[in-house]
Amino acid sequence: MKTMLISTLWLALCAMTAEGKTEVSREPFGKMPDGTPVEIFTLTSGNVEARIMTYGAILVSLKAPDRKGRLANIVLGYDTLAPYIANNQSDKPAYFGAIIGRYANRIANGKFTLEGKQYSVPINNGKNSLHGGPNGFYNVLWKAKPIADGVELSYLSKDGEAGYPGNLAVTVRYTLVGDALQIAYSATTDKPTVVNLTNHSYWNLAGRGNPSILDHQLTLRASRFTPADSGLIPTGELRAVQSTPLDFRQTARIGERIDASYEQLKFGQGYDHNWALDGEAGTLREAAELYEPGSGRVLEVLTTEPGIQFYSGNFLDGSPYPRRSALCLETQHFPDSPNHPDFPSTELKPGQGFQSVTVFRFSTR
Ligand code: BGC
Repeated sequence: MKTMLISTLWLALCAMTAEGKTEVSREPFGKMPDGTPVEIFTLTSGNVEARIMTYGAILVSLKAPDRKGRLANIVLGYDTLAPYIANNQSDKPAYFGAIIGRYANRIANGKFTLEGKQYSVPINNGKNSLHGGPNGFYNVLWKAKPIADGVELSYLSKDGEAGYPGNLAVTVRYTLVGDALQIAYSATTDKPTVVNLTNHSYWNLAGRGNPSILDHQLTLRASRFTPADSGLIPTGELRAVQSTPLDFRQTARIGERIDASYEQLKFGQGYDHNWALDGEAGTLREAAELYEPGSGRVLEVLTTEPGIQFYSGNFLDGSPYPRRSALCLETQHFPDSPNHPDFPSTELKPGQGFQSVTVFRFSTR
């Protein structure tokens, strides 16, 4: 009887796999320093596999085939929990694979005014606040449950946490369907607040551990970018990419112009800028395409967000991954929007729902 039940279940599972269904499993992934257990979810669809843990809602690994069908993990990270915590709690976190909030990217001088009241948020990057400060969403434990094709993570950021107003209830759903990993973000608040959420995965399409992304080829569907000052805070200008080394409307090798003598590249020590995406924010559209000629792997990024931060890993310092050995494509609202009323608004009011979707699609050519 028991054997029959097991084989029936097994057959059902095989049938699901044959139909291209996504398998979702969960396992323990170590413990927080206070003993709270951390879990990791594995999403498998065909030969693409994504692993997401509850600490930082981090994408721990993403395996995808090359043009010969050989699998490799194409995101940076670690094999165990402890080094993630150590890196996130260091002076210069890399934010490997993490969900970033409440405010992805920078807020100038850690200050903004909302409805006539000034707020101060933690300063952790020169004079500015970066990625929500030292206890941002990348460095907290999320609640998680399996859902169809994926995992749903949720976190309640309390009123006043890291200086931000309002109890913010955040949900992030990672789902893997076919060869596409979708991240759907939603949030609600009980007081007016600001919110900007992204995923901070570092991609190297030749596989984690390969030394450089300079031979990767990039396309960005953006005609303008937001020039920044030396602390990478937008000046407020929206500048055409035309005739600058930031023009990726035609596919270009990343290494081709990365060290060009252009002030913006000096400020970022390479690419570390926000591109204003073409097309209508709020609609899911092509934002970027990355291609690695050696493996043939292609990553397409689609998003509903108005902007994308292309960061060429300039501040990776060899512990353990070398400078420019991976790159981030962070879909987002523009940096420092709370201090730029002309930028698409990052304000969220009670009764409104924040929604945002980004898709990472994997293929080869
Ligand atoms: C920022 C970089 C920063 C990096 C941290 C990126 O999102 O734009 O300036 O150094 O995160 O690893």
